[in-house]
Amino acid sequence: MFCHEYPDILETEAEVLDARPGAVLLSRHPFFPGGGGQLPDRGLLSWRGGESAVVGFFEDGEQLWIRLADEIEIDGAVVAAADAHLRQIMRELHTDLHILNALVYQQFDGALVTGAQMNDDGTARIDFDLTATDNDKLRALEPALNDVLAQDLRVSDSRIPMVDAQQQKGLLRSRSVAPPPSPDGMVRIVEIRGLDRQACGGTHVASTGGSRPVRILKIDNKGRHNRRIRLALDGV
Ligand SMILES: [Zn+2]
Repeated sequence: MFCHEYPDILETEAEVLDARPGAVLLSRHPFFPGGGGQLPDRGLLSWRGGESAVVGFFEDGEQLWIRLADEIEIDGAVVAAADAHLRQIMRELHTDLHILNALVYQQFDGALVTGAQMNDDGTARIDFDLTATDNDKLRALEPALNDVLAQDLRVSDSRIPMVDAQQQKGLLRSRSVAPPPSPDGMVRIVEIRGLDRQACGGTHVASTGGSRPVRILKIDNKGRHNRRIRLALDGV
């Protein structure tokens, strides 16, 4: 995906390959379509004489279509632009959740993720399969998390065969939101240097210092096997 290869390019020129009323298939675009708890990008499509907001995405076969706010059918050349504010919040929160996930995995005996959700107000939640844990110990991870941000560790990605990922302990960290392999059987691995490697299809900051500091807001018990940690970016 373009948004994986060029996460900093939020605007592209493109050709309309196919169109339906209120939807369009483009030769390329900067949008992240959502998944793994990360919200889909919002944005704007503009062309000579008009524009329409991008309000969603849907797959048809292997093709990713863009849903528009207006029931129009367009052709020719367009400019596709993603909402930079939303993308930035998602990149920061997604990276922060990886760090928290890594700390929990290391300190709580390989506990796995059971769910995650990032919100456009700069808050997020992540659920872990944890039993009989003192919630104060989870809350106490906040300084360690912010310490990783202050270290400004590089965040990079690579692709490896899914069969290899399944054999490496700790790469598939989620019970519920593991990214599907691409049609060629590859899965994307996101690495925070010296801290963590895990399969993920989302967007992240280029180094951990790219995220604002975070606060852990709340720990909830969601059933006997589930702890939910809520966090927020500082200043939002
Ligand atoms: Zn991720």
